[in-house]
Amino acid sequence: MLTLAIESTAHTFGASVVNSKGKILSDIRDMYQTKKEGLEPRKVAEHHKNIGDLIIEKALKDSKKKMKGISFISFSQGPGLPLSLVEGMRFAKLLAKAHKKPLIGVNHICAHLEIGKLLTKARNPVFVFTSGANTQIIAHEGGKYRIFGECLSIALGNALDKFAREIGLGFPGGPKIEQLAKSGKKYIELPYVVKGMDVEFSGIVTHAINLYKKGVSKEDLCYSLQETMFAMLVEVTERALAHCDKNEVLLIGGVAANQRLCEMLNIMCRERKAKFYAVPIKYSGDNAAMIGWQGILEHKKRESFDKIDIKPNWRIDQVETIWIK
Ligand code: ATP
Repeated sequence: MLTLAIESTAHTFGASVVNSKGKILSDIRDMYQTKKEGLEPRKVAEHHKNIGDLIIEKALKDSKKKMKGISFISFSQGPGLPLSLVEGMRFAKLLAKAHKKPLIGVNHICAHLEIGKLLTKARNPVFVFTSGANTQIIAHEGGKYRIFGECLSIALGNALDKFAREIGLGFPGGPKIEQLAKSGKKYIELPYVVKGMDVEFSGIVTHAINLYKKGVSKEDLCYSLQETMFAMLVEVTERALAHCDKNEVLLIGGVAANQRLCEMLNIMCRERKAKFYAVPIKYSGDNAAMIGWQGILEHKKRESFDKIDIKPNWRIDQVETIWIK
């Protein structure tokens, strides 16, 4: 069984061919980039529209497969930017129709979780999903992926990016903050806001920006920001582990590249006799390989072609996890 998969939820348009054993035969991506402004949805969709054919063609070529060998088409149905999702679905529907292949729409967040499991061999972890736009603590309980905690305002990645922008580090800010933090010497107390199982990052960033404007050192602030925000995340992860009685933690999303966050989660896991995993950096960001693997897991799903549509606000707890026994 082989699937050709398409990803287009946000800035990245990707195509990939994946087989039923989880082997990634090709993985082509192109990210919309801008020097100054943020993501303008119309421009992102235009990028996907212009690049789509080329990316799909290259993914097929790299996999050394032909369309006739493809069993079905998978695509990212949501959540995401509506205009970008529409472009991905348009390519997926055109291919499915032209080559008479079934079409399977999958949840993008679920795909992040499942590629993490595939690549790390974690079995039933508590997921710490932390990217630009998402911070969620997720675990599979009672037949569904459930969100045990999340950010109340901005996500961790966006919070780091915002602070970095304000102090002139550019985008993406996370990696630059990580480097500067290594030279930080003094821990500066910042607001530590955990409410139940949720975390709140926006007040911390505002506080840190104000301290920077008063002359506090960049390095000390980067160090303190990381220590404070990561400790909040580790605290709720530890509680989710205890509550769900699980013994694995899997870190996914772009912020998984941060070595200090990995180290802090690892220490907590060791103390609880749990195992810590982080998704390989190559697959931490948006990609179509994870959409392909999710399609393979859901290959038995059939929906009427005309009824398949984008789902921009599709939450993970609304997904029926038919592939998990
Ligand atoms: P989403 O997938 O939620 O729509 P996104 O696609 O922007 O958001 P990713 O590509 O998964 O998110 O991750 C990008 C984020 O990861 C950025 O906020 C970036 O600053 C952050 N990031 C990348 N590397 C590091 C690092 N070493 N330390 C901290 N943050 C990092």
